[in-house]
Amino acid sequence: MTAVFTLVEIQPVELRGPPPLQECRERGCTAPGLVECAYADSVGRPCGTQWCSHHARRIGMLRYCRRHASTVTALGSKASNPRLLPPVDHRGASLVSWICTEGFPTLNQAVVSGLREGEVIFEDRAVNVVHPEGAGRRWERGWRIGDRTGITCKVMICVDEENDALVSLKVNDTALAQGVPPWITRRRLGQRVPPEIDAADRRQFYSFLVGFIGRALAARR
Ligand SMILES: [Zn+2]
Ligand SMILES: [Zn+2]
Repeated sequence: MTAVFTLVEIQPVELRGPPPLQECRERGCTAPGLVECAYADSVGRPCGTQWCSHHARRIGMLRYCRRHASTVTALGSKASNPRLLPPVDHRGASLVSWICTEGFPTLNQAVVSGLREGEVIFEDRAVNVVHPEGAGRRWERGWRIGDRTGITCKVMICVDEENDALVSLKVNDTALAQGVPPWITRRRLGQRVPPEIDAADRRQFYSFLVGFIGRALAARR
């Protein structure tokens, strides 16, 4: 009898299971990265990095990588609007927030010293997103000065969409100074400096800003 069918031996292939678990992205951590950063930017691009439950940062119901946890925190309630979220690899919102927080004592003092009689400060608690006509988005936070007639002056720390390392100081929407913070420049150059040099860099950076703020507010008199 002839067989009515033919059996062909199939070359054995390696059985594929689920993709191997990645390690947590935190340097030096070898725990499995079971938590994926929940961040997706305004065009829906996800961060996709994976972290162990210890190194993922929880904000509300979601968990994020360090960078996006600081972006979401910087934006406060605005982070719930996807259109306001910076691109996945853009540090603008968190950089603005960092400068306003770390530099607060010196920068705030400069603004207070520049008040005219009857003026008060309305300080931003979160980073705002502005969309100037014909330009990319801008993340900014700062101090609005006002009196009984309304807002008299704005002092803003800003980062534009096109360059997420370049910080501008704007007073009434005029850029007075612009620069890359020293800690970012050093990181880009791969320079590690002792803490006292880093602290001196930062002091100098903030004192530049203070100088510009002081002169701009004094010029209003
Ligand atoms: Zn970890
Ligand atoms: Zn992330």
